[in-house]
Amino acid sequence: MRRLADLRAPEVASALSASSVLIQPVGAIEQHGPHLPLSTDLLIAEALAEAVVEERGDELDLWLLPPLAYTKSNEHAWAPGTIWLSAQTMLSVLDDLGRCVATLPTKRLAFLNGHGGNSALLAVANRELRVAHGLMTFLLHPSQPRDSGGAAEDDDELGMGVHAGRDETSIVLHLRPELVDMTLASRSVPESMASRSRVTFGGDVAFGWSSDDLAAGGVIGDPTLASAERGAQLWAGMRASAGEALAEVATFAFPES
Ligand SMILES: [Zn+2]
Repeated sequence: MRRLADLRAPEVASALSASSVLIQPVGAIEQHGPHLPLSTDLLIAEALAEAVVEERGDELDLWLLPPLAYTKSNEHAWAPGTIWLSAQTMLSVLDDLGRCVATLPTKRLAFLNGHGGNSALLAVANRELRVAHGLMTFLLHPSQPRDSGGAAEDDDELGMGVHAGRDETSIVLHLRPELVDMTLASRSVPESMASRSRVTFGGDVAFGWSSDDLAAGGVIGDPTLASAERGAQLWAGMRASAGEALAEVATFAFPES
């Protein structure tokens, strides 16, 4: 496995080249309802990054960085077990990361983000690291929930399955079934919001929210619709999609460079 942290320091200069792509998995440690582990976003981001580096690492010259486990999860701060960084702290951490990455032979850094609550901040960091450290920065999502720009599906979750719902639960059932307790899974869809067209997930008016504004139990979606079979299907799609995305990242060039 092409893990940067497993290299010895003098090997870095020869193992990496100007065209290497560094993959930074970005997870979260936060409540995922009563049925999924705190590590849900971390294990998904890490497993997907490992899978894609395993599959396409040699071809695309991919290098895996250790995952960021603690990130911006204050929408779940009300739940004991959530361990989160403030926006200011996380931007500082990402700036420090960028400064260090800039000393490597490559300038290509791709965030693979498993937690929707990080998306806006990582988009800001993309530009900050570009301007401050001259990096080429990219932001990929294993799957894009609707609260951070993903496409709405016409489904039983009414497009509201953004946290610990059908798909996320299915993926963990596929990857780590021993960490899931489906006897505790229950539907929690904020149906009143689904009738709105502007101020809603995917609407053109964004709004600040904490997960306990939407659902007392911390689930936003319907995990009772989840299955390991669905998870396996989604996982295959996520792997293929991440591989295709990274193939473009590997060859991306600005017109003026
Ligand atoms: Zn999650």
